[in-house]
Amino acid sequence: MNDAAGSPLHPTGTIVAQATAAGRGALAIVRLSGPDAHRIARAAAEPFPAAPRTAVVCRIRDASGAALDEAVVVRYDAPASFTGEDAVEITTHGGLVVPTTVVAALIARGARLAEPGEFTRRAVLNGKLDILQAEATGDLIESSSRAAQRTALRQLDGGLSRRVLALRDAAIRLEALIAYDIDFPEEDDGPVPAARILGAADELIRDLEMLEGTARAGELVRDGALVVLAGAPNVGKSSLFNALVGQNRAIVTDIPGTTRDAIEAVIDTPTLPIRLVDTAGLRETQDPVERLGVEVSTSYLNRASVVLVCGDDAASLGQGMVATEGRTMAPRIEVRTKADLAVGGQAKNSAWGGDHAAIRVSAETGEGLDELVSAIVSAASGGLNAFEADAPLLTRERHRYAVGRALAEVRAFRERWGAGDLPAPVAGVHLREATAALEDLIGAIDVEDVLDELFRRFCVGK
Ligand code: GDP
Repeated sequence: MNDAAGSPLHPTGTIVAQATAAGRGALAIVRLSGPDAHRIARAAAEPFPAAPRTAVVCRIRDASGAALDEAVVVRYDAPASFTGEDAVEITTHGGLVVPTTVVAALIARGARLAEPGEFTRRAVLNGKLDILQAEATGDLIESSSRAAQRTALRQLDGGLSRRVLALRDAAIRLEALIAYDIDFPEEDDGPVPAARILGAADELIRDLEMLEGTARAGELVRDGALVVLAGAPNVGKSSLFNALVGQNRAIVTDIPGTTRDAIEAVIDTPTLPIRLVDTAGLRETQDPVERLGVEVSTSYLNRASVVLVCGDDAASLGQGMVATEGRTMAPRIEVRTKADLAVGGQAKNSAWGGDHAAIRVSAETGEGLDELVSAIVSAASGGLNAFEADAPLLTRERHRYAVGRALAEVRAFRERWGAGDLPAPVAGVHLREATAALEDLIGAIDVEDVLDELFRRFCVGK
């Protein structure tokens, strides 16, 4: 049973790896996990910690007894560790040599080098993390924006898992109602009222739809909202781009046409990353909207999540609005640039009648920039209440697929049960499929749950 090599899917043994990135740095962490972790570490570290979860300074030696480092060693006893196994964490000095020689010394004493993700895999196999949390661990490490970090952390906390489990429990409860109908049709209490079953199905459908709806928000968090600057030449788009991004990456000039290419930069807001695009340079080569004197390509207008229509007076702002009208599905924000040139709150240009919806900004003084970023975030996330509710989001295609599958099954059940042409055993199959889809999502499988639920809810033994 306890084959030392394990199956290819569930390899066993004691694994070791450097948990921190290789390279120069003050410290590095070497992690050891498995049945022999304590024995192996005890042979290499002196004095080996007598108690778990206590940091002890140890001398680390190789198999020949040569000293490798002074390191801080923490021992974890199964199951109270990240992997659920006996584990040891050794915080060594950093750099290329020290951690590598410590890893080699542990391998010489019987550990083997861990496969990628193997510590987390063991945590899942030992029930310390579910699959959603394991994915979140990867997403947290890979996150390239604050929004992605926040979303991953919420998923790691189990927010999404709890949501999915609640839906799966609702599907099981529904199945239990139907099972009750099948098994106890002659019960004194009478059959479960049809309205109760349909009501529960409708509620489950609504909740699944809400969860499915968060996939769009999850996509925005992952990919960012594409925000495109549009407006006549010289109204200050490049300057605004630079001011928003906070670094001078675009070429800014008062000679029209100097910006050569579309430039993109990411603004990292806590809600979602904004991918800001200035396409001013495209107008010389390919832009249909250019004929109307507005610098933005139609392909960007098509893909945009939000369009910033810029103008430095009423005329140019109006021109921008006319030129982009009907050319984008995205919400447009009117941006009145160069607000510092206005006197006493009014534009110098008397033609500026003041479109009240316009946000006044100045690349020169920074006025209005925060307000504009807030307006962009709310326009980009508009209609997605997932953002407002701070709800857990579906972040991967796998999630969307599983929830879609569950939804299709519950809908199929609802439709036919409502029409009265669904035999209860077939109804049970739809609901079991829905439950299975949700369980696939988190990696929880327990077929006994339906029976538990049935007997707990209905007090059948009374
Ligand atoms: P674009 O062609 O729309 O990208 O416009 P630019 O960003 O190149 O700006 C055109 C001119 O307006 C440059 O001379 C900028 O210095 C000037 N400009 C841009 N933004 C501001 C601003 O907020 N205040 C003032 N006073 N001048 C600005």
